Amino acid sequence: MTERIFNFSAGPAILPLPVLEEAQRDLVSLPGVGMSVLEVSHRSKTFDDIILGAEANLRKLANIPENYHILFLQGGASLQFSMVPMNILPADGKADYINTGVWSKKAVKEAQKIATVNIAGSTESENFNRIPSQGELTLDSEAAYVHFTTNNTIYGTQWATEPEVGNVPLVADMSSDIFCRPLDINKYALIYAGAQKNLACAGLTLVIIRDDLLARSPKNLPIMLDYNTHTKERSLFNTPPVFPIYILHLVAKYLLENGGLEAMQQHNEAKAKLLYDAIDSSEFYRAHALLGSRSLMNVTFRLPSEELEKQFVAESTKAGLDGLKGHRSAGGIRASIYNAFPKAGVEALVQFMREFERTNG
Ligand SMILES: *Cc1c(COP(=O)(O)O)cnc(C)c1O
Repeated sequence: MTERIFNFSAGPAILPLPVLEEAQRDLVSLPGVGMSVLEVSHRSKTFDDIILGAEANLRKLANIPENYHILFLQGGASLQFSMVPMNILPADGKADYINTGVWSKKAVKEAQKIATVNIAGSTESENFNRIPSQGELTLDSEAAYVHFTTNNTIYGTQWATEPEVGNVPLVADMSSDIFCRPLDINKYALIYAGAQKNLACAGLTLVIIRDDLLARSPKNLPIMLDYNTHTKERSLFNTPPVFPIYILHLVAKYLLENGGLEAMQQHNEAKAKLLYDAIDSSEFYRAHALLGSRSLMNVTFRLPSEELEKQFVAESTKAGLDGLKGHRSAGGIRASIYNAFPKAGVEALVQFMREFERTNG
């Protein structure tokens, strides 16, 4: 087998090695089945065990109660930008959206096609380098829901805790930090996440929706865009993305076997601390996100010049540290260190950063 490098990509992103190894071992023939997971019918008992197993693992992992449906959909988090307002925002209603980055803005744009959107908070004028405080939010108690992005993948900011929204349903895009630490599902009405960052491979979107929201969907929605279609058919209305669901099943099993979300939090905090400490202890590197808003998953920082940033990316890639170039809309360096990313990779990056500063600082 060829050697693996350290993959800092923001997504599709690193997966746990034991998951890849199990998928590889069983790819040609699932034990006791004699067929690949890529070949079995989605109506078969084999696949039923996989999709029910994935759901059961997720419920156990994150304590997801029975009054929440777990859906395995397609179209990415981007389709949820549309599906959320199409289903739960009445045409004569209004919704609160908190603007903390590029992905939040895309969600706003889709909701505006359905009804009135109130921007209940924004840090755009500060280049999204922090999360707004509770006191800065202008929330409307009559809003159909409040939408926020728990982790801003591009800017490297993350909410430390959920905004306080009273009785208004809380909707979250958790694409880049779902299951990075324990979460209280009961605070949310709807959660969605593209799977390719912290859950599985690309091609799957996880949606967790509370029962009572389902009654809001207008009757004339296209059938594939109506959450009720997928809750009624348990994500099997049409052919679901069988392979990413299988991978998610393995990832959830891996997380359960490795201490669950509490252990993930410790692992992620230790990795992030190593990296932020290295940045903060140097004059050469400068963190983008302000203290109190910093992400455990995407660590963003700048060097003294764009020239040096280019050189840093080129040399780090050669050193086996891949995917460190920041997003095109933010620039700089971004190290994505999701659940599956090993501490040894962060140590290697810190070592590389010290050496780069010594020779170029
Ligand atoms: C990557 C990302 C998206 C877009 O996800 P797709 O699955 O590609 O549509 C949306 N929101 C956040 C926070 C992301 O990180």
